[in-house]
Amino acid sequence: MHVHYRSCNICEATCGLEIKYDGNRIISIRGDKQDPLSRGHICPKAVALVDIYNDPDRLRRPVKRIKNSWKEISWDEAINEAAEKIKTIQKKYGKNSIATYLGNPVAHNFGTMLFIPFLHKALGTKQRYSATSIDQLPHNLAAYLMFGHYLLLPVPDIDRTNFMIILGGNPAVSNGSIMTAPGFVSRIKELLKRGGKLAVIDPRKSETAKLGSKHLFIRPGTDAALLLSMLNVIFKENLEKPGRLTEIARDFETVREIADDFPPEKVAEFTGIEAEEIKSLAREFALSDRAVIYGRFGASTQQFGGITQWLINLLNIVTGNLDREGGAMFTLPAADLIAMSRMTGSKGGFARRHSRVRKLPEFAGEFPVATLADEILTPGEGQIKGLITIAGNPVLSAPNGKKLEKALESLEFMLAIDIYINETTRFADIILPPATGLETPVFEILFYHLSVRNFVKYSPPLFQKNEWQQYDWEILADLSARISGQDFSPQKPEQMIDFILQFSPYNLTIEKLKQNPHGKDLGQLKPVLPHRLMTEDRLIHLAPREFVSDVKRLKNAIENNKRDPHFPFLLIGRRDIRSSNSWMHNSQRMVKGRNRCKALININDAKNLEIENGETVKIISRTGEIEIEVEVTEDVMEGVISIPHGWGHSREGVKLRVAKKHPGVSVNDITDDEFIDKLTGNAAFSGVKVRVEKVANTG
Ligand code: SF4
Repeated sequence: MHVHYRSCNICEATCGLEIKYDGNRIISIRGDKQDPLSRGHICPKAVALVDIYNDPDRLRRPVKRIKNSWKEISWDEAINEAAEKIKTIQKKYGKNSIATYLGNPVAHNFGTMLFIPFLHKALGTKQRYSATSIDQLPHNLAAYLMFGHYLLLPVPDIDRTNFMIILGGNPAVSNGSIMTAPGFVSRIKELLKRGGKLAVIDPRKSETAKLGSKHLFIRPGTDAALLLSMLNVIFKENLEKPGRLTEIARDFETVREIADDFPPEKVAEFTGIEAEEIKSLAREFALSDRAVIYGRFGASTQQFGGITQWLINLLNIVTGNLDREGGAMFTLPAADLIAMSRMTGSKGGFARRHSRVRKLPEFAGEFPVATLADEILTPGEGQIKGLITIAGNPVLSAPNGKKLEKALESLEFMLAIDIYINETTRFADIILPPATGLETPVFEILFYHLSVRNFVKYSPPLFQKNEWQQYDWEILADLSARISGQDFSPQKPEQMIDFILQFSPYNLTIEKLKQNPHGKDLGQLKPVLPHRLMTEDRLIHLAPREFVSDVKRLKNAIENNKRDPHFPFLLIGRRDIRSSNSWMHNSQRMVKGRNRCKALININDAKNLEIENGETVKIISRTGEIEIEVEVTEDVMEGVISIPHGWGHSREGVKLRVAKKHPGVSVNDITDDEFIDKLTGNAAFSGVKVRVEKVANTG
């Protein structure tokens, strides 16, 4: 029996794993107690790594779709045919006729991350999409416009804070997102033990809210109004104390003027939070000596996601809690993409061009995924005719999945780099399956920028891939070369990481990291401003014009706040600990037990509609309808329906045998591609208007 240590790369928490194995057989997967960041924490999903490794439905060789069946073909034939198809389409319709879509797992694979730019260079297309505009674009835009780089994302210093406010996030289940905080529950228990407080503001009394000292229900999509009124209270009562940030930030007066217009009384009805509650929250936050406010999925994926993330940063700044211990801090990672971009110049960019059909702005070279279907379905110059998806399942994760299905069906060619024939890749003509999970090395190049401690780890593969398998980066290098005629693989990913490691002060190499199988602790987060700012004037921009002008839209929404009689409920999402978006559902141990794909409805709403717990109801929106079991609860706000995402595996052609037995329904069959944050273009899942109907008894 042998022991292997690695990081789990299923989610952003990057927990350390201790894996006992014998030959190709896994004996146990446990938390690595010597990992200085995760300290032995794991969640049930880590154990499912072995299920993915052994999954008979996982593709090991390229397949080609012939009508309704799939045929294995050689790598050479598959990549060659894909490259020829792409070249033919681009020759006929132009470079932008081929689009790319990158799914969430791309961010956890450093080989893919490093070789994607070669594919984009070979394609020369401006039609680029990714999961960024599904759930995190507002964070990146706020970082870019305020601090000068889309990766300068403040991270809560959770281990030293005394008061944490969480909006629209559920880290007790996720272990942090845009906040790598493995073992979040233990960390919060430590916060409470040292006399600190956690306040959670969420339309659902989530698992995180149940840990906290305070929970306030908030109407979905109104967080920006709450935050502005908190700023209003802080300025009105002279509670601001930005301290040394005064010297390195500009436009304090503009912020004060904007907040002046949003007294708590004005937003109370809109947010569903009483004015006195808002005042006391603002005071408590401003008067705490170490406090941090953090907002995640629900705060970003809503119609005011962009300004919400801006206002979160502002609250941390005006109370002096940015870049200080116990507040919102920046990391100093070993593989420092921010430092490196001082050389490459790739620090982001917003609205330099707009999408063809709906004129939505690009961010960092990508258009919002909410308009991908329009770009495929709308004829005209620049129409997308071919698509390459990499580790993505937008049919289940993007808004209005049914419309996207129609779009994918109409493509002249689709290539998927993926290990499964799932709800999206079943439309592909060719699927190229890379080696995955335990067969790959792990280096979380992105997430060490978001970690609650400075930390780095390199994990070699546990199992060698078979000689007929290829890594993602090998596929990308080969495909890019065949499309462009240029050789794009001068170095291996590890050599590229060695190059990037030179830009940090830690004097590390991959070889040195291999000597630290549990990872290397690089210390607690430290103040790094102003030298880490990437704005031209090296100042924090408190009032970027993009955000300032978007406040008017919020003001209109507050003034015209009415319940829609046709769609009186507002939809929110939910996640659970055994799901990772759509892609852990082919593991029996991840889906067994009671049905988790249920709609939560408040007990009073259920009474009014005469709906019983466990009954199946219809949820209807502008874009479609689904039938789903309801759970009647006090944990969700009145007027709100909560449905988890990532389900809906019963679609024809999906080759996931376990998932098909536990299909659930896709909430994105009723979300709306036209309901977006108009500033950023990010999808708005929180606050989609729906109605609930009883299903007629046909028995
Ligand atoms: S929280 Fe779970 S899925 Fe995420 S990294 Fe840790 S063990 Fe893996």
